[in-house]
Amino acid sequence: MGGYTGKILRINLTDRKTSNEPLNMEFARNYLSGRGLAGKMYADEVSSDVDALSPENKMFIATGVLTGTKVPTSDRFMIVTKSPLNGEITSSNFGGYWGTQLKFASYDMVILEGKAEQPVYIKIQDDLVEIKDATHVWGKDIYTATDILKQEFGDDLVKALTIGPAGENRSLMAVVMNDLYRAAGCGGVGAVMGSKNVKTIMVRGTGKVETANSSEIERVLSMALRKIRGNNVGTQNKTTKRLTQREACYRCPIACGRFSKGDDGVGAGPKYKCTGDFEEADDLCNKLGLDKISVNVTIAVGIELAQRGYIKPKELDGTPLEFGNAKGTLEWIRKIAYSEGLGAKMALGPYHFAESFGAPELSLVVKTQRQDRQSAIRKDLTAVIDAVGLCLFTSFALGLSDYTAIVNAVIGCKYTNEEILACGERILNNERLLNLRVGYPVVADTLPKRFLKNPIPDSPSKGQAHRLAEKFC
Ligand code: SF4
Repeated sequence: MGGYTGKILRINLTDRKTSNEPLNMEFARNYLSGRGLAGKMYADEVSSDVDALSPENKMFIATGVLTGTKVPTSDRFMIVTKSPLNGEITSSNFGGYWGTQLKFASYDMVILEGKAEQPVYIKIQDDLVEIKDATHVWGKDIYTATDILKQEFGDDLVKALTIGPAGENRSLMAVVMNDLYRAAGCGGVGAVMGSKNVKTIMVRGTGKVETANSSEIERVLSMALRKIRGNNVGTQNKTTKRLTQREACYRCPIACGRFSKGDDGVGAGPKYKCTGDFEEADDLCNKLGLDKISVNVTIAVGIELAQRGYIKPKELDGTPLEFGNAKGTLEWIRKIAYSEGLGAKMALGPYHFAESFGAPELSLVVKTQRQDRQSAIRKDLTAVIDAVGLCLFTSFALGLSDYTAIVNAVIGCKYTNEEILACGERILNNERLLNLRVGYPVVADTLPKRFLKNPIPDSPSKGQAHRLAEKFC
């Protein structure tokens, strides 16, 4: 069977023990891999009432069955764990090269459980796995820590999965960063890794991922590449005068990454996620290990709380909290990462931050919108794309039959389109069941009240509010 390595690496941090175990191929058949398989294992292994930041919570770092193969954008992998931000199961997806290296080291998944007594990092070099002291890099930003540990490793091709000070301080907006700029940004997964006292996971593999049917793979891949190029798939990225180079994940012809020149030098600049010329803030979030989207929203919530008088001037400690103040914004980002002063409350994320002032309605937190049949199919397919380790941007060019053909060619199996979609549905149902088990409220599946009730004050849409009910009922 191609694609899978068939092996899972389990690391018990409390006992400082590592072990290998075989992949459950029946689970793999039903849940594919990545998000699906890890979600199923999480449901089976972890009690629903664990505290997300306790040693009893586990972190599954799972590659897709296509990760590390020749398939375009087959670089994706994900972290599945309980989110400290909202208590639900989270699947935080990232690209880069780390997942590929893990497959080359012959592992489909790493499971972190327990908690190390002191800060540690994990070194995976093919089948040699070590848990090592990380006190010398604890407290350092992601760029610095990665540089130091790479030098110690002594191999340019090693890849690092790292948290910054935000994760160490358990900010609920903390990310896990890979290849310096590729983040698993959702759900506060960086805080979960920080709660386990794990700074970094270094991996270097020298093997390769076997695939089942090479002639069929060549055929389906050239078809997929033709469609991706023909559809001119790329992100609607903001290409500023400051753009210096593009950057791609493993085997990606789309290359959505951007490096931009800011006033203080070149950094990973705004991608599709950013608006405005806030390259420096963007880079600082990467460096300190914060989710830039949540940080943007949290600072905006803070500004509104200050404008409405919920935050008193003395609580600001002299740091301006106002729209358009770039210097103040940079300082708030730093305070959030280090949990300093008001930054400690902001580090809880926009909802809990606004809630702590008795004004949760000021946070613009969206869960998901209500489904109609079409979006249900779309969600099933999205779960499949995530689970097999491909980038969602491919879905601008590829459809269900393309994904089914690719999966069949790589694994050497005969899924029908319906069976592939059923895997996606199973993955989502498992996640929904997990969230019901932890008591995640269904009412969270809507838009914030302000979107529905407050008319837009100006602009061409003046006077309008979101017509959710009209659209979906
Ligand atoms: S489109 Fe961007 S995020 Fe997706 S695989 Fe390519 S470079 Fe990575």
